[in-house]
Parts: sequence; C-alpha cells; structure tokens
Amino acid sequence: MITSEARLYALSQAESLAAEAVDHLSQTVRNAETGRVDPIALERAQHQAHGTAWLVSHVAGLTALHDWAQRLEETNSMGPVEAGILRIGFAEYLNRIIHGLPMGQTETVRPHELGTSLHAMGMATDPTLNALFADPDLPEIRMATALAMSEHGFSNPADDPDGEISMMRTQYQRFAEAEIAPFCHRWHLDDILIPDETVQKVADLGTFAITIPQAYDGLGLSKQAMVAVTEELSSFHLPTGSLATRPEIAGELISNSGTQDQKERFLPGIASGKIMTTAVFTEPDIGSDLAHLSTRAVRRGAVYQVSGAKTWITHGGRSDLMTLLVRTQAGSQDHSGVSMLLAEKPRGTPATPFPAPGMTGGEIRTLGYRGMKEYDIAFDRFDVPAHNLLGGEEGLGFRQLMATFESARIQTAA
Ligand SMILES: Cc1cc2nc3c(=O)[nH]c(=O)nc-3n(C[C@H](O)[C@H](O)[C@H](O)COP(=O)(O)OP(=O)(O)OC[C@H]3O[C@@H](n4cnc5c(N)ncnc54)[C@H](O)[C@@H]3O)c2cc1C
Repeated sequence: MITSEARLYALSQAESLAAEAVDHLSQTVRNAETGRVDPIALERAQHQAHGTAWLVSHVAGLTALHDWAQRLEETNSMGPVEAGILRIGFAEYLNRIIHGLPMGQTETVRPHELGTSLHAMGMATDPTLNALFADPDLPEIRMATALAMSEHGFSNPADDPDGEISMMRTQYQRFAEAEIAPFCHRWHLDDILIPDETVQKVADLGTFAITIPQAYDGLGLSKQAMVAVTEELSSFHLPTGSLATRPEIAGELISNSGTQDQKERFLPGIASGKIMTTAVFTEPDIGSDLAHLSTRAVRRGAVYQVSGAKTWITHGGRSDLMTLLVRTQAGSQDHSGVSMLLAEKPRGTPATPFPAPGMTGGEIRTLGYRGMKEYDIAFDRFDVPAHNLLGGEEGLGFRQLMATFESARIQTAA
C-alpha cells in the first residue's frame, strides 16, 4: 500500500521537475527581447516541446491517480484491485519521468533533453521514491492485480452505489457472449460490415441513448455507464464497442452546442439508432492539426456548398448524418474560420456507399478494426442546408469539437 504521504511527496518531486522542464523549454523557444514564442525556435525544438508535453501529462496523470486514491480512502473503499493499480501506476509513471518517456515505438525523451538531468538523478537515488518505482514486489503485484481483475472485474461499489452500472455490465456481458462472440471472427475474416440486425440489437439495448438527455429520448446516464457498456461490447470485438463512438460524438456535439431545433430533429433519432452518424474531420494532409483543415463550405442562399477531401472516415457509408468539419471563412488560416455542419446524406451500402449528388468516395481496406469500414470521401459542391450549421453560428466548430473530444477519447480508451 502506498501511503498518502509517500504519494504527495512523489507528486511534489514530479511537479517541480516538470516545472523545470517547462522553464527550460520556455528559455529555448522564447525570443529574449519580446518574450514571445519564436515559431522557428519552436520548430527546431520539436522533440523537446513534444517531450515536455508528455512529461506534464504524466504529472497530471499521477495527480489524478492520487486524487482517485484519496477519494477511495475517504470512503474506505480501496480494494486489492485499486491498491494494485495505484502501486503499478505510480511505479510506471515515476520510472518514465525519471528514466525516459516513451512517446512512440521509436521515440523516447530522456531527462537531459528536457533539462531535468540533475533533478531526475536526485529522484533516482531518493530512498522514498525508490520504494515506489523500484519496488521488488511489482511483478507479483501485477500478476495478482491482473488475476483479481479477470475474476472480479474492475468495478468499485463506491462508484456505483445503486448497482445500476453493474447491472448494465452483466446485461451487456450476456449480450456480447450470445450475439457477438460466436460471429465476430467471421465478420473480421470476411471483412464485412457488422450485420444490420446486430447493430439494431445493440441500438435496442439503448447503447446509443446512454448519454443523450432524457428530454430527447435518451437515457441521460453518466460517462461511467457509457464506459462500462463500451468495455463489455468490446470484449470480443473492438469495432462493436466502437459502434457508439460516432453517435457519442454527434450526440454530445448537438446536446452541448446545437440549436433547439437541431436537438429536436436529431437527438431522438441518434438515441434510437434510426439515425446512424459518422464523424468527418480528417483530411489527407490534416489529422491532429484540425485547426488548419481546408475543406471549404461556401454559403449560397439557403445552403452551404461543401468542396474538399476527407479521409479515414469510419462508418462513412452506412450512415445518415455527418458531423462535418469545414472552413466557412474564406482566407482564414486557423480555428477561427472553422465550423461544424450537421450534414444529412442517404444511407449507403458497401456497393454504393455514397448515393448522393456532390459526394463520391472509396473504401480504405484495413488490417484490423473491421466492421464499419473506412472511407476516403470527396465533396464537390455538396449541399448542406444553412440551418444545419451547428449552433447557428460560424467559426465555433473547432471549439465545439474540442469540448466533445474529451469524452470521445474516454470512450475510445474504453
Ligand atoms: C482506423 C482509423 C479510423 C479513423 N476514423 C476516423 C473517423 O471516423 N473520422 C475522422 O475524421 N478521422 C478518422 N481517423 C483519422 C484519425 O483521427 C487521424 O489518423 C488522427 O487524427 C491522426 O492524424 P494523422 O493520421 O494525419 O497523423 P498526424 O496528425 O500527421 O500525426 C502523426 C504523428 O505525429 C505526431 N504529432 C502530430 N502533431 C504533433 C505536434 N504538433 N508535435 C509533435 N508531434 C505531433 C502524432 O502524435 C503522430 O504520432 C481514423 C484513423 C484510423 C487509422
């Protein structure tokens, strides 16, 4: 068991090391005279900047882990699984902060590259921290935690006082065993869409309604419920669990930012599965950096005409509504000219994925994550009614999407 004092001590060390790294980066990339970030210096220091972001994220992760442990301790509900996760989490994150952060399969950032060598060396030889990151019992703790999770699952009564989430888990476990496990390998080998009947059964369970407000025929449940359902649906076949990702994005975009009319027109259909949605953001040259996308939407009277190319669009064919990120402001270079359109389209089939004027596309074959199909889509003056601009105001699309990505990330992680 890691005591609260030991955790707080480790956190304070990690925080001050991260502050040093941020300071070091600031000195590297700021213009000494103006104090502003110099884009050329930042470009040169990409590895350091990226590594510093990773370091700060790890410290935020440790802080969240500590806060979670504290809540469990306060309610006397720290079980063996939680205690195991806590020890493994602190050990792993401290090791990375002190010895090097793996940012990708081929990219590690070391303390000397962040200007934190001395501090990291001090932490490496600190007996209190050593007891956390070099704990000789860790291999056994990992094994015991994994076994306990496989036997009892990972749900803490303190997080689910009325047992609702646990009941949903059981219901979805049974569903996955009966309706997904026997068939999903065949779907994968044949590289076909998850059958319509299975999608309908997933919808009938209320899967797409979970976080949609009750006022719009949703269940109005928590993100925690959504995570539990996603974990169970994914247990045999990742794409079945991921069926809800796009409705989750569309549902939250419209619930948070839609006009009253948009909420009434779209949310009940998304909740029931009658309206299948697809998220249309990525472009051939723009992935992470969506603020610089180039697909244009030009206002002509009562419609926006959309032209441009999108790629990697999951479930693009078998869908009725696109959350379509476009540039509405001519000449703008950044997020301020980006808007979100709720673009309706006829539902396609694998043979004819895009039976709509102004829209063509083709499948991108994948090795895995099969069952929804990914597409390239080209728009050529594709019409979207102007009243389908999310929230009725241009230039807010990037911000609306970033607010929503938070829960989409949680759902994808589940
Ligand atoms: C199976 C699959 C399904 C998908 N489904 C959809 C979908 O339904 N809808 C949709 O819109 N998109 C979809 N995508 C696209 C996905 O969202 C993008 O692949 C993702 O946003 C990353 O963009 P990119 O591939 O262009 O990589 P890039 O953005 O070019 O990133 C490449 C690498 O560079 C790193 N990097 C990026 N920016 C920086 C920076 N500033 N500093 C340092 N490092 C950086 C990244 O971490 C990454 O390792 C899908 C992709 C896949 C593979």
